[in-house]
Amino acid sequence: GDGAHVPALVIGTGYGGSVAALRLAQAGVDVQMIEMGMAWDTPGSDGKIFCNTTAPDYRSYWLRTKTKQPLSNFFGIPIDKDIPRYTGILDAEDFSGITVYQGRGVGGGSLVNGGMAVTPKRENFGAILPSVNPDEMYNTYYPRANAGLGSGLIDPAWFDTVDCYQFARVGRKQAGRSGFPFVFVPDVYDWDYMQREAAGTVPKSAVAGEILYGNNYGKKSLQKTYLAQAKSTGRVTISPLHRVTSVSPGSGGYTVVIEQLNTNGDVTATKTVTSDKVFFAAGSVGTSKLLVKLKATGALPNLNGEIGRGWGDNGNVMCGRANYLWDPTGKVQAAIPCGGIDNWNAGGAFAEVAPLPTGIETYASFYLSITKNPNRGTFSWNPAAGRVDLDWQTAWKQASIDMARTIFDKINATEGTIYRTDLFGAYKIWNDTLTYHPLGGAVLNKATDNYGRLYGYPGLYVIDGSLIPGNTSVNPFVTITALAERNIEKIIAADLA
Ligand code: FAD
Repeated sequence: GDGAHVPALVIGTGYGGSVAALRLAQAGVDVQMIEMGMAWDTPGSDGKIFCNTTAPDYRSYWLRTKTKQPLSNFFGIPIDKDIPRYTGILDAEDFSGITVYQGRGVGGGSLVNGGMAVTPKRENFGAILPSVNPDEMYNTYYPRANAGLGSGLIDPAWFDTVDCYQFARVGRKQAGRSGFPFVFVPDVYDWDYMQREAAGTVPKSAVAGEILYGNNYGKKSLQKTYLAQAKSTGRVTISPLHRVTSVSPGSGGYTVVIEQLNTNGDVTATKTVTSDKVFFAAGSVGTSKLLVKLKATGALPNLNGEIGRGWGDNGNVMCGRANYLWDPTGKVQAAIPCGGIDNWNAGGAFAEVAPLPTGIETYASFYLSITKNPNRGTFSWNPAAGRVDLDWQTAWKQASIDMARTIFDKINATEGTIYRTDLFGAYKIWNDTLTYHPLGGAVLNKATDNYGRLYGYPGLYVIDGSLIPGNTSVNPFVTITALAERNIEKIIAADLA
C-alpha cells in the first residue's frame, strides 16, 4: 500500500522479473512485484480468459481502438477491425520506423508469445554476450532456465502424421530440397495436451489457433511456472494494473512512484513506496524508457552514458511464400511453431516455420526470420513531448531482408514458387516494420556491471532483455531467463549476505 517499505521491489512480471522474484523469495526476501498489465486470471462473459487470434475483442490490444495485426491483409484485403479501448494483452507500441510487440499482464511476454524455447548454438554465444562465461551458461544456467520454463520437444513420430503440423512438414520438405537443415526447436507448450487436443478429447487451444492474445489451456506461461512457484513461497505479492513512473534515492531506500490504472488506462491513484533494492524487469522497451527518462529528468542523474544504447530488433522480418495446389499447408494449423530453418552461419538467418491459423487452406508458407542485423538504435528523452523516442529507421531492416532472402530466394528457385504479396499491404513482400524481440537499452557490462548492477546506484539492478545487446541468434526468452538466473544467484550471494 501507499507509504509502505518493502525489502525488494520488482518492476514487471516477465521472464527477468519472475526469475528475480522466485530466487529472492527462496532466499528469504519478501518481494513486491509491480505490473502495469492485468492479472489475466478471470474469465470473460464467454467463459474464457483469453480471446482467439481469429476473433480479437476488447481483450486483444493494449489501449487501442483498432487492432494492429502483424499480418494485416489477406488476399489484399485489410483485416484490422475496431475494438473497445481496454488494457488488453498485446501492446503494439509504435516508435518511428518500427512497431514493437510486447505482452502486457502478469507473465509479460509469456502470455502472448509462441513459447519457442531456443538455446543458441554454443559457437554463437560469444557474439551474443561477450562478457559472460559460456561454460557457466551451458553447464548451469541454460539447463536451469529450460527446467524452470518447462521446455520440451514435439514427438517426431506424432509430428510426421498429424494434420495440424502439415504446414511445418511442407516447411521441412522444402528446406531440405534446397539444402537447408530444418531443426525441431523446443517449446513450453504442453505437448501431451496438444496431442489430446488434436484427438478431440480436451478443449482445443493451440489447435484452435490461440496464441497472440493468450492461450487458454496448453501453454506453460510464467503464470504456470516461475510465478506459480514464486507465489507458493508466500513471500511474493503482485500488484497488477500498477505502473512504475519513478525511482529515485530517498531516505529509507529508493522511493518508487506507482500509478494505479483502471481498464480504460486512466490513472486512478498515485502511490509511493520505498525499497532497499529495485529490479528493473519492465522488458527491453519498458526498462529503457524508465531509465532514460529518470536519468534525463534528474531522478537518477548518475546513470552512465550507456543508458538507452545498444537496442536491436533481433533482426526480425516476416514473409510468406505461395505454394502450388499440390502442396497444401492445411486447414488446421497448430498455433505453436515447432521448427525452423537454420542458415545462420552461412547467411545470417534462422527462420521459424510459422503457422497461419486461419481455418481455411491458404497454400501459403509463412515465416518469421531472426537475422544477424547489425543496426542498433538509441532511446533518448524528448523534453518537448515528455516521452522517450527511439531512433530506429525502417531502412535498417534491408540487412535483415537480404539475409532472409538467402533462404527463401533459394527455396523459391528450387520449388518454382514466388513470395506472397498480399499479407502486409498491397504488393508488400516483407513485413519490415515490426519486432517481437526487442533487446538491449541497458546492456550488460556497459550500462551495468557484469551482473546487472546499475552503475552509480547500489541496490538498483537490471534483470531483463534490456541487458542483451540487440540479438540472440534465436528466439530470446531462454537466454533472458538463463542470464537472469546467473545474475540473481550472484546478487543474492554477494549483495544480500
Ligand atoms: P517482458 O516479458 O516483456 O516483461 C516485462 C513486463 O513489464 C511486462 O509484463 C510489462 O507489462 C511490464 N512493464 C513494463 N513497463 C512497466 C512499468 N513501468 N511498470 C510496471 N510494469 C511494467 N520469444 C521466444 O523466445 N520465443 C517465442 O516463441 C517468442 N514469440 C513471441 C511472440 C510474440 C507475439 C511476442 C510479442 C514476443 C515473442 N517472444 C518470443 C519474445 C519474448 O516474449 C520476449 O523476449 C520476452 O517476453 C522478454 O522478457 P523480459 O523479461 O525482458 O520482459
